[in-house]
Amino acid sequence: MELIILGCGSSLGSPWINNHWGNCDKKNKLNIRTRCSAFIKKGNLSVLIDSSPDIREQFIKNKINDVDCVLYTHEHSDQTSGIFELRPFFWKHKKRIDIYADSRTLKALKKKYDFCFYGGQGYIPIMKPNLIKKKQIIKKGNNKISFNTFKVEHGQITATAYVFNKTAYISDCSNINPFDLNKLKKLNYLIIDCLRFKRHTGHFNLETSIRISTFLKPKKTILTNLHTELDYNFLKKNLPKNILPAYDGMRLKI
Ligand SMILES: [Zn+2]
Repeated sequence: MELIILGCGSSLGSPWINNHWGNCDKKNKLNIRTRCSAFIKKGNLSVLIDSSPDIREQFIKNKINDVDCVLYTHEHSDQTSGIFELRPFFWKHKKRIDIYADSRTLKALKKKYDFCFYGGQGYIPIMKPNLIKKKQIIKKGNNKISFNTFKVEHGQITATAYVFNKTAYISDCSNINPFDLNKLKKLNYLIIDCLRFKRHTGHFNLETSIRISTFLKPKKTILTNLHTELDYNFLKKNLPKNILPAYDGMRLKI
């Protein structure tokens, strides 16, 4: 099973639309970050986590040509606004694309992107909402992905964390309750929110991400949701060896 980090940038990506690079070295391509999304492939089963505004470019760059279902972490625009780009996969499979999320996120998606779920103006619905379970199995033929989910704080809302085998994907998070945190020991990969140096009400900052990694001791911690404050080479040089900054297109065998 392979996980591709399609995008590891914060809500505005890097650089921003106004060519703001912050501390990021323009010459390093690894500092060009699109918005957070990830993709998991197991045989012919293709699972997308979040549909960022950059999803089309992300799929083309990574030569991805299929999606069976989408798992959403939460409803913020940087995680969802590429949803309508997924229409070709509805045409390909001739069935509605399964969408998995918690009830608040499903409600928000159905309101914001009503045409995807209900159709209208001559268009038919292309998506099917499914309430995410704590233990979820997704199957296609002989291929099966099973995973656990739990809620984490993300500022004033919650986001869903996903744990596949020994890999946790927690892209947007400001706090994890101790009970759930203890379930994250012995991971191979901890993919975790790390917005910037300064504290932020909706996200972990660098200091907190390092502290959590030191506590959980995964084999590797991968920092994602990176702001323009955080330059790739700066992070690579200054972090402990088992903590790595993500980059767009990073591939992990999980
Ligand atoms: Zn968010």
